[in-house]
Amino acid sequence: MKKIGLSFFAVLLLISCAKNAKSTQDGDLNKKFDNYKNNFISALWKINPNWASEVGFHKYDSILIIPDAKANQQKIDFANSQLDSLKSYTIDQLSNNNKTDYYMIKNQLKGIIFNIKELKLFQWNPSEYNVCGSFAEILNGNYDSLETRLRAFNTKMNGIPAYYEVAKKNIQNPTLEHTELAIAQNLGGSSVFQDDLKNALQKSKLSDAEKKQILEKATVSVKAITDYAEWLKKLPNKTPRSFRLGSALYAKKFDLNIQSGYTADEIYQIAINHKKDLHEKMFVLADKLWEKYKGKAVKPADKLELIKQVIDEISLKHTTPEKFQSEIEKQIPELTAYVKAKDLLYIDPSKPLVVRKEPAYMAGVAGASISAPGPYDKNANTYYNVGSLSGWTKENAESFLREYNDYILQILNIHEAIPGHYTQLVYSNQSPSIIKSIFGNGAMVEGWAVYAEKMMLESGYKNSDEMWLMYYKWNLRTTCNTILDISVHTKEMSKEDAIKLLTKEAFQQQAEADGKWKRATLSQVQLCSYFTGYTEIYNLREELKKKEGDKFNLKKFHEKFLSFGSAPVKYIKELMLTEE
Ligand code: ZN
Ligand code: ZN
Repeated sequence: MKKIGLSFFAVLLLISCAKNAKSTQDGDLNKKFDNYKNNFISALWKINPNWASEVGFHKYDSILIIPDAKANQQKIDFANSQLDSLKSYTIDQLSNNNKTDYYMIKNQLKGIIFNIKELKLFQWNPSEYNVCGSFAEILNGNYDSLETRLRAFNTKMNGIPAYYEVAKKNIQNPTLEHTELAIAQNLGGSSVFQDDLKNALQKSKLSDAEKKQILEKATVSVKAITDYAEWLKKLPNKTPRSFRLGSALYAKKFDLNIQSGYTADEIYQIAINHKKDLHEKMFVLADKLWEKYKGKAVKPADKLELIKQVIDEISLKHTTPEKFQSEIEKQIPELTAYVKAKDLLYIDPSKPLVVRKEPAYMAGVAGASISAPGPYDKNANTYYNVGSLSGWTKENAESFLREYNDYILQILNIHEAIPGHYTQLVYSNQSPSIIKSIFGNGAMVEGWAVYAEKMMLESGYKNSDEMWLMYYKWNLRTTCNTILDISVHTKEMSKEDAIKLLTKEAFQQQAEADGKWKRATLSQVQLCSYFTGYTEIYNLREELKKKEGDKFNLKKFHEKFLSFGSAPVKYIKELMLTEE
C-alpha cells in the first residue's frame, strides 16, 4: 500500500511538475509573443506613418513616405522578415487571444505582399495617391498643441511635390472610374492647405516667419495636387484597365480580407439561395397583409410586385425630420431593457453609449453610425452619430424617412447599437488586443451586427408580420450586396442588370441603387463582409445547438463568441469547437 501510495504521489508530483513546467513555458512564450507584437506594431508604424496618425499614434506625423519602388521593397522586406519571425512560435502553445492575433498578423503580412505583387492598386488606382486626408487629420486632431501639430504639418509638406511626381510615374492604364475619383478627391481635399490651414495659423502662436514659411509651402503643395489632377484629366489612356477585378484576383482578395471559412464562389451560391428563400417568405407575409393595406385592390400576378406594393404602404409609417434623433435616443434604453429581460447577453452598463448629432466634419452620410475610441485613446466616449435632416428638401427627407420607417429604424438601432456594433465593442474592449483593434476583422464585426438583427427578431422583438416583412427587406440588402459585388467583379454583370437586381429584387430606391453600383465599381470584396460574417456566425450557432442539444444556452453562446474580440469567425469557430 505504502509503495503504491508513494509511487502514486511520485507520479502525481511528476505530473504536476510537468504541468508547471509546461505552463511556465507557455507563459514565457506568451510573454515573448506579447513583446513580439509590440515590436511588430512599432515597425509597422514606421513604414506606415499615415496609418499610424489615423489610429491616433502621432510619433511619425511629420513623415511623408514617397511611394516609389524603394518604399514598396521596404514593405515587402518588412512582411517577409516578420513572417519569418512568426515561424518561431508554436500556435498550440499560445493563449486564445494570441492565437487569433497570430493568425491576423500573418494574414496582414500576406496581404502586404499580395497588394504590391499581385493586386497592384498603386498602378491602376490613381485615388491611392492623396495626401489631403492625413494633413487634415493633423490639423483637426486635438491630441497635441496647435503649434506642435502645425510644425509636423510644415515638415510633412516638404515631400508633397516628390510624392506626386512618383505617383505620375507609377500609374499605368488606370481605370476610368478611379481616375475620376482621384481627380475629385484630390481637388476637394486640397482645401486643407487653403482656408483650413489659414484659419489654424491665425489661431496659433507661431512666429510670423514660421507662418510665412508654412503658407509658401502650402502654395507649392496645392500646385502639386492640382497639377496631379490636371495630369490625370489629360492622361492619354486608350486601354484603361477595367474596374472589374476578375475571378483570380477577387478570390485571393476575398480570402485575405474576409478570412472566411467559405470561398467567394461558395458564399455567392449561399447568397443566391438565401435571396430565393427571402422572396418566398416575403410573399407569404405580403399576401397575408394585402387586404389590411390594399383593401379590395386586385393583387398583381407578379409576386415581387405584390411584395413591393405592400412594403410601400408599410413604409408610410415613419417619424418626422424633427423627431428623427429623439426617436433613436428613446429606443436605446428600450433595447437594453429588452436584451436584459430576455437574457440574451450581458451588457456592461459602465460605458454607456452617447447619442449625439453627427458632427459637421462627418456630415454627408445620412442615417447613423458608431464612433468608437481608437486603440490609443481607450477612455474616450463611444458615440452614436445621428445625421440631421435639417436643410433637406421635403422630397428627400420623405424618401429617407420612408426607407428608415418605424420598423427599419428599430432594426437600424439593433444593428448599430444594441446588441449590434456598440455591444460587440464593449466586449472586444474587455479582451484588449492592439492587433484586433487595428486589424479587426470586418466580416466578424459587420456579421455580428447583422446576426444581432435576426437574433432579436427570433426572440420575439416587436413581433408582427410587418416587422418580419421589413426585416426581410433589410436582410435582402446585405444579401444582394454580396451577389452584386461578386457578379460585378467576376461575372461581368452589366449596370442595367445590377440596377434591376437592386430595385426589382431588393426593393431599393433608384438613388440607393445608383449609389451601390458606384460603390461596387470603386471597391472590391468589402460589400461581401456583412453577409459572409452573418452566415458564418448563424451557422456556427446552429452547429453548436445541434451538438449541445438541451445544454445549449443562447446567452452563453453570445458571451463566449464575443469574448474572442474582433477576430475572423473561422478562428473563433475553431476555438469554440475545440473547447467543447
Ligand atoms: Zn410620409
Ligand atoms: Zn454595420
